[in-house]
Amino acid sequence: MGSKKYKGKPCVYCVDGVSSDGEHIISREFFPPTYRGNLPKAPACRPCNDRKSKLEHYLTTVLPFSSDHETALKAQTDKIAQRLYKNIALKNELRSGIIPVLMKTKNGSLEDTISLPFQPEKLTEYCKYIVRGLVWYEWNVIIPKDYIVEVMPFWQHSSGLFRDFVLSLSPDLQRHKILAKGGFEYTCTRNRDDAAFSAWQLKFYENMLIAAQLTEDKLECIELCALTGPPTIRPIIERLTGNSEET
Ligand SMILES: [Zn+2]
Repeated sequence: MGSKKYKGKPCVYCVDGVSSDGEHIISREFFPPTYRGNLPKAPACRPCNDRKSKLEHYLTTVLPFSSDHETALKAQTDKIAQRLYKNIALKNELRSGIIPVLMKTKNGSLEDTISLPFQPEKLTEYCKYIVRGLVWYEWNVIIPKDYIVEVMPFWQHSSGLFRDFVLSLSPDLQRHKILAKGGFEYTCTRNRDDAAFSAWQLKFYENMLIAAQLTEDKLECIELCALTGPPTIRPIIERLTGNSEET
């Protein structure tokens, strides 16, 4: 069912497209049915919706395994077996890639567990959609086409710089929202004069554990941080990600 609020508007994801309807910015499928109330929506065109759905199909199946948060556990039991039953290729990919790893527990000790293969670039791409959608949802602004939307997954121990120096800018404009009973949350802030110049921290299932490829076979929490803004923010991103070519 279409509604006037979302139909015939510029698509928040690609800017050029015309929305066919409102689209859930964070897919309802990440959460058990009774946790899905009041999830934010944004106007989206059909092609963007289709591209985003493909990412959602993968991520709603795989991401719940990364956390022992209540919503993730419930999502695992409720739906995933059913989804994998229909998607043999994904089932085989996951099954053949299972590896034993060490996981850091909350008190810092290491525990044996298993890890599933994961395509992190799909999560990064998906988070770009989420940030575009939420910028519109929070401030009614569409991120212009020439702006940068950069998603930076940081290991938890290295995300301090972002939290302390970027996300804490303009504290009076900072917002923190918890959705789906803690299944998803975000903190954001923006430039006072330009809402499309913004900083984000996104959290699925409170704490996602993902294997750090560089540090042996340990699982660590990642923090999904994002920055949007005019092309002039490139040096800030390079500094944050350590890709600066300056000496
Ligand atoms: Zn679009």
